[in-house]
Amino acid sequence: MTCECAKYDHITMDRAAISKRVRETKKLRTWLKPLARSNDKEHELFVCEACSQYWQSSRAWNWGNDVYCFKVPQTTVDEWLLLRFVSPDELMVYGYAVSDFLNSGIELGDVECNETDCTSKAIGGLKKCVNHHLANLQQVGSFPSEPEGRWFFPYEERNFKPNV
Ligand SMILES: [Zn+2]
Ligand SMILES: [Zn+2]
Repeated sequence: MTCECAKYDHITMDRAAISKRVRETKKLRTWLKPLARSNDKEHELFVCEACSQYWQSSRAWNWGNDVYCFKVPQTTVDEWLLLRFVSPDELMVYGYAVSDFLNSGIELGDVECNETDCTSKAIGGLKKCVNHHLANLQQVGSFPSEPEGRWFFPYEERNFKPNV
């Protein structure tokens, strides 16, 4: 069986790219062979037997919870079940939230963050640095959680972290 994997690129950090891939996924799955499914059933691992490309599917919560597939590096089922790959939709939601926050006019003051062993400057008017402030917001569910999973090219963890 021939495949069309080569026609599909990595998903860019663009809402429309996710929507497009949601629409393409039904077709993609006609030639992808399912290998494993995560315990929470949200993620699935596939391989293309024609070209050996690995794919993962995830649900895009912010896009109507639809399933979409994206290319991932070669892996084994055991490795993947232990730690799946990060999903582009989670990267996008988190990345946009971080940049919105950083662009919202926050300024660092002269005082250090009041967390033990943290030497970063606290945000003006607050007692916490950016990272600890966001961690607090995450705990109460007011900020998207950090993407979970194994990082892979072309996505780089450092591009999604607050650079402060
Ligand atoms: Zn293929
Ligand atoms: Zn801190």
